[in-house]
Formats: sequence, structure tokens, C-alpha cells
Amino acid sequence: MAATDVDVFSNEEKRNLSLGGHVGFDSLPDQLVSKSVTQGFCFNILCVGETGIGKSTLMNTLFNTMFENEEASHYQNGVYLRPRTYDLQESNVHLKLTIVDTVGFGDQINKEDSYKPIVDYIDTQFENYLQEELKIKRSLFNYHDTRIHICLYFIAPTGHSLKSLDLVTMKKLDSKVNIIPIIAKADTISKSELHKFKIKIMSELVSNGVQIYQFPTDDEAVSEINASMNAHLPFAVVGSVEEVKVGNKTVRARQYPWGVVQVENESHCDFVKLREMLIRSTWRI
Ligand code: GDP
Repeated sequence: MAATDVDVFSNEEKRNLSLGGHVGFDSLPDQLVSKSVTQGFCFNILCVGETGIGKSTLMNTLFNTMFENEEASHYQNGVYLRPRTYDLQESNVHLKLTIVDTVGFGDQINKEDSYKPIVDYIDTQFENYLQEELKIKRSLFNYHDTRIHICLYFIAPTGHSLKSLDLVTMKKLDSKVNIIPIIAKADTISKSELHKFKIKIMSELVSNGVQIYQFPTDDEAVSEINASMNAHLPFAVVGSVEEVKVGNKTVRARQYPWGVVQVENESHCDFVKLREMLIRSTWRI
């Protein structure tokens, strides 16, 4: 008898039987799919980065729409978090998307406490969920779960190193959320500088003990692709909702007097990789 035929917990034998006819439980996966589709999906992204670094533009580019964005001023007394929830639909799949922006981040002279409102926000969402779970009559089915699935941390394309604000903030957040570091406005840094900058950032994160999200490599089906994605971190991205004609195709790009940077061209930036990973990964909170 094969070892797998034995249930180690009950020590009962399990036999493989062949069915004499159709029962119908082969529709169980379809039922799960249709239940999930009817219910819709919920995805919560936290964007951390200084004002003007390209957070709103990247969100518009990622979801191919124009979210309401009022430009934040550089004169906020402190940092506050602005969550906005949208219902998006693609084919018959509904996505309840919450984008949380860090307004005023990096704008104060004294940035010592900039991370605090972010940590508080994340903790509050956990607390709200816990309170719902603790209720005698729970309604988690309808509950709008606002816990953050991922945090996109926007790094300025300086080509130098991480700022202390970046290190402190990421360190405070790394045990609470999945952090994906991204180099914003990657069209403003040359190819060789970008390569060195990526290596520098990763070594600084390691030497400061900052844990960033690593795409899982334990599942054989995705281990190779995820390992190659991990090697590309931090993703260097370009955002734009401007459409430019390249050859006979219209693409989203940024046009300069010397050329065109195409957002979805993998030799220009890592935007496609970021989008793929955001959508393909199963985000555990
Ligand atoms: P936010 O304050 O972080 O939300 O920044 P915005 O998305 O409002 O962007 C601020 C400015 O940066 C705008 O003028 C954008 O057009 C510009 N911008 C956004 N993404 C990029 C990018 O990838 N490259 C370049 N060069 N500029 C960008």
C-alpha cells in the first residue's frame, strides 16, 4: 500500500474506488469560481513615497483609468493617509480596489515621525478586522476588508542610495505589510546607473535588516519565474497615461525631444513585471 493512502491522523485506511457513474462533484471547482466571481475580489494597495514622485500616475497607469487625484501640496504639517475605494470591472469580474496614498510624506523639515501615521493606519485596519471577527454575529462575508495586501514603496531615482527616511519607514513597516520597493521615474536614470542603483539599494536593505517581499519560489510551477522576478527587485517603473504612436501602434509612453519611453516595453522599464506580479500573486496578509 502506498504511504499516501494512509491518513496519519485517524490511522484509517483510504481506498481508491472507481465510480460506477457520474455523481457531479466535478463541478465543485466551477462552483468555487462562480462564488468568487459573484462575490468579487478585494485588493488594497498602500503607496508610500514623497509628494510628486509619481504615485498617482503609476496607479492610473496600472489600472488603465483615471482615478480622482488632487495634486497634494508640499506644505502639509504632517503625513496623513488618504484611502480611496473604487469598484472596477473587467469582463464579469468585479474588483473592489482601495488605494491608500501617503499625503505629505517627505515634505516636513523634521521627518522623524513620518512613518507613524502609516503604521497607525495599518494597525487600525488589523484591529477593525479583528473586532469584526470577534463579534458573536460575524458578517465577514460582507465585511469590507481594508487590511493592506501590499505596500509599494517609491524610491527616488537619485542613483545614490536610499534616504534615511526610506530605511526607517521600510524598517517600521516590514513586519506589518508586504513591501515591494520600486524605483520611480526610472526614465530619468541611465541604464548603467540604474543597474548599480538596484544593487546598492538591495545591499542597503540587507545591511539594515529590512525585509522586503520575495515572490515565493517553493511552488514548482512558478519557482523559476518568481526567482527571476526577485532578481529584478526593486522594480524600476515609468508611469504615463499619455498615448503615443510608435510605428503603427498606439502605446502608453513618455515622449521626449530625444525619444519615446514606452511604459509596457520590457527593455525600457519593469512596469510589466510589476503589473504581472501584482495580479498573479496570491497576497497573504
Ligand atoms: P504623486 O504626488 O506621487 O502622486 O505624483 P504624480 O503622479 O502626481 O506625479 C508628479 C509628476 O511626475 C507629474 O508631472 C507626472 O507627470 C510626473 N511623473 C509621473 N510618473 C513619472 C515617470 O515615470 N517619469 C517621469 N519622468 N515623470 C513622471
